[in-house]
Amino acid sequence: MVLAYYTSDEHFSHLTADDHPEHAMRIMAIEQELKRSKLWDDLLHGKTTPATPEDLLRAHSSGYIDELHLIQPDQGHIYVDEDTAMTPGSLHAALWSAGSCITALEGAMAGEFNHAFVATRPPGHHAERGKAMGFCFFNNIAVTALRAADKHHLQRIAVLDFDAHQGNGTIDILGNDQRFQLFSSFQHPFYPYKHYEQGRFSNLVNVPLEEGTGSASFRAAIETQWWPTLEAYAPELILVSAGFDGHKEDPMAELNLTDEDYGWLGRHIAQIAAKRNTPVISMLEGGYQLNALARSVREYLLGLKNP
Ligand SMILES: [Zn+2]
Repeated sequence: MVLAYYTSDEHFSHLTADDHPEHAMRIMAIEQELKRSKLWDDLLHGKTTPATPEDLLRAHSSGYIDELHLIQPDQGHIYVDEDTAMTPGSLHAALWSAGSCITALEGAMAGEFNHAFVATRPPGHHAERGKAMGFCFFNNIAVTALRAADKHHLQRIAVLDFDAHQGNGTIDILGNDQRFQLFSSFQHPFYPYKHYEQGRFSNLVNVPLEEGTGSASFRAAIETQWWPTLEAYAPELILVSAGFDGHKEDPMAELNLTDEDYGWLGRHIAQIAAKRNTPVISMLEGGYQLNALARSVREYLLGLKNP
């Protein structure tokens, strides 16, 4: 099983303040842990490129993209919503963030590897078609999914999201588009308080989790509500919004997941993918406690690599 790892140093230009939870140390912590555990040497390391305007325009309105460029500050930082800091280098980093996911898609479509993990920031799943939110500017997973459908003509693309927060942007962009089947697990009620209920979207499987949900209830819910539907869907491509802020040590949510739960997710996703040789591309979303994030990514990658 060949597992590719994509990242780009361009994320350093999204220089959020030291007290902002979404900062460059997140990626550095992941890489340190992967090197320490020797998994690093077993990964295929790919080169990345920035996203093109054509790629962004599949997911976002041109008015929104123009507006982001207009408000980007020349120095210091501004807040585009109450959580989302924008600095002079943020859009540059966001272009490379979406582009890294696209590069991974192209590698997968060319058969260069089985699965890929994209260690990227800023994250994407809260960004809506016309709105930056929750640390996100461009919706990396929606941009990737739409390119896979448009350029590679895939008709059954599964989009999984196990971040502790519901990926409102992904649902805003891909909801009710029958080329995609969306799977979302999230603490509820919780940010982003958009209440994207299953009934409004014919292609959405929601797994709301009560505050305090731990391993056993989480796994039981995913086992009954995700896996059978995912398998029956026979996806040609699996994309994953891999957020690790549901970890019990993470300060941003109140779920009680463990390192092993992320290993379990990686293993099961890879097992279902193996039935049809389906590529899996996972991209980083949340995860803010550096040690827990780094260990959880390591376990998730081990699960993907050794199902
Ligand atoms: Zn999150």
